[in-house]
Amino acid sequence: MLVFCEECGRKYLLDNEKIEGMEARFKCESCDHLIVAKKPEDTLKDPTPSEK
Ligand SMILES: [Zn+2]
Repeated sequence: MLVFCEECGRKYLLDNEKIEGMEARFKCESCDHLIVAKKPEDTLKDPTPSEK
């Protein structure tokens, strides 16, 4: 998925499969802004029912 830094507009190409959990957090290489990329829900193949 494509992620944009809200601060400077730099774009990053993120591999959905490398995102652990619901979101990925990383710092922008240009401006040090903390980017939180949320995984699109439709990429979740089987939504886990809340058992735990
Ligand atoms: Zn930035």
